[in-house]
Amino acid sequence: MDYRNFVGGQWLETTDSTPNVNPSDISDILGYAAKAGVDQLDQAIDAAHQAAPGWAASTPQQRFDVLDFVGTELLARKAELGRLLSREEGKTLPEGIGEVARAGQIFKFFAGEALRLAGDRLASVRPGIEVDVTRFPIGVVGLITPWNFPIAIPAWKIAPALCYGNAVILKPAELVPGCAHALIEILSRSGLPEGVVNLVMGRGSQIGPRLVESAKVKAISFTGSVPTGRGIAAACGQHLKKVQLEMGGKNPMVVLDDADLAIAVEASLNGAFFSTGQRCTASSRLVVTEGIHDRFVEALAERMQALKVGNALEDGVQMGPVVDERQLQQNLSYVDIAAKQGGKVQGGERLNRDTEGFYMAPALVSETDNAMRINTEEVFGPVASVIRVKDYEEALAVANDTEFGLSAGICTTSLKHASHFKANAEAGMVMVNLPTAGVDYHVPFGGTKGSSFGSREQGRYAAEFYTSVKTAYTLP
Ligand code: NAD
Repeated sequence: MDYRNFVGGQWLETTDSTPNVNPSDISDILGYAAKAGVDQLDQAIDAAHQAAPGWAASTPQQRFDVLDFVGTELLARKAELGRLLSREEGKTLPEGIGEVARAGQIFKFFAGEALRLAGDRLASVRPGIEVDVTRFPIGVVGLITPWNFPIAIPAWKIAPALCYGNAVILKPAELVPGCAHALIEILSRSGLPEGVVNLVMGRGSQIGPRLVESAKVKAISFTGSVPTGRGIAAACGQHLKKVQLEMGGKNPMVVLDDADLAIAVEASLNGAFFSTGQRCTASSRLVVTEGIHDRFVEALAERMQALKVGNALEDGVQMGPVVDERQLQQNLSYVDIAAKQGGKVQGGERLNRDTEGFYMAPALVSETDNAMRINTEEVFGPVASVIRVKDYEEALAVANDTEFGLSAGICTTSLKHASHFKANAEAGMVMVNLPTAGVDYHVPFGGTKGSSFGSREQGRYAAEFYTSVKTAYTLP
């Protein structure tokens, strides 16, 4: 399969491409993805620029029809596309199918939102004057996405962008062209005018800066790592461009003495290791009070070691491979660093399976302190560390002692501590007796501190980013 770039309503011929490799089986090449140079990107920017005014003038019904069409098809094809996702990215088949269904739900949600576009009419403080506050599209939006949610993240950027009347250029991560291509292929049949949606695959470092710097691109929504995000924010600042960044996490899961042990273990297992730990909301720091510490570590280690790691497409597999060799080496090196700094490591070794892939055993590193590198830097793999603390107050202080602030969890039966934690955890999302990962699609998603920048994604809050506000005064 050749994945080609989609620009101005046409699938472009390609001269340069990269193989799309299955991380569960590197002999399985899914296809070859076009690698755009700046010329194709420039074409996409021009196409979007030309198409933007037409789509900005589209009716709510037209927008609903497009978004609803895409949502319906994603939901109908979730098994097939979920398989593609798992084969390409390595999360298990149920996780892959679940992600495609999520993308479908997001399109359905924003289909509905297109019918609910509203403004405000206020009385003026001056007699006889009317004041209208309306939202209008911002124009061409550049969407830059990571590899770990290859269909849900493009969906949660494209759907609101279109809902609020913008034209888009999607620049997906190099490792996952198949899902981006499949999503854009559906959009290409959705009734959208040519040029409203464009797909430009290629190396981020080559074409990313031009997308960010083009005067015709009015806003950038980025999800990815902190260093890339910082560079994009700086360039957007230079060009006075609207920017939204969703970046890394070092999410704490606090477990208090009074927690239900089964709930705490389940939430931590899910939060730390599901999707191979490759979630920005993964529970990578388990902050545990001393009364429950040993029981918790023992029970979690037992459950972790029982996880079936293997080919993402195989029945019964609970944890798929790491996405690629580079990420696997990074994970192994963090486990090594943690051991050298005094952590007690269980698991964390490379594994062999029937097919050659990037398999590793999930790792639990106990006896760590919050200053160790394993607790200050994002690993982005199935690696969680345990930090022993005296009481709730110390747990909260440790949970907040990080440069990140995406998600934070607490397992407790104390209403007092749960309420205090919800109010005082320095994170954009707080979970009580639930994993730090796993969110709804109709409410805001995002963090504080070094994890996020700009307005929130998802739910009705997405309007803040994808629209601008106009205030009109009329003397009738
Ligand atoms: P990355 O920063 O390497 O790449 C993200 C995207 O940016 C890719 O499409 C890449 O091609 C592009 N890019 C690279 N250099 C660029 C440049 N100079 N200019 C413009 N674009 C450029 O991140 P990744 O490895 O794909 O994803 C993993 C990271 O994503 C982790 O840090 C994870 O925490 C984060 N993430 C965050 C969220 C969130 O919502 N907070 C969700 C998922 C993943």
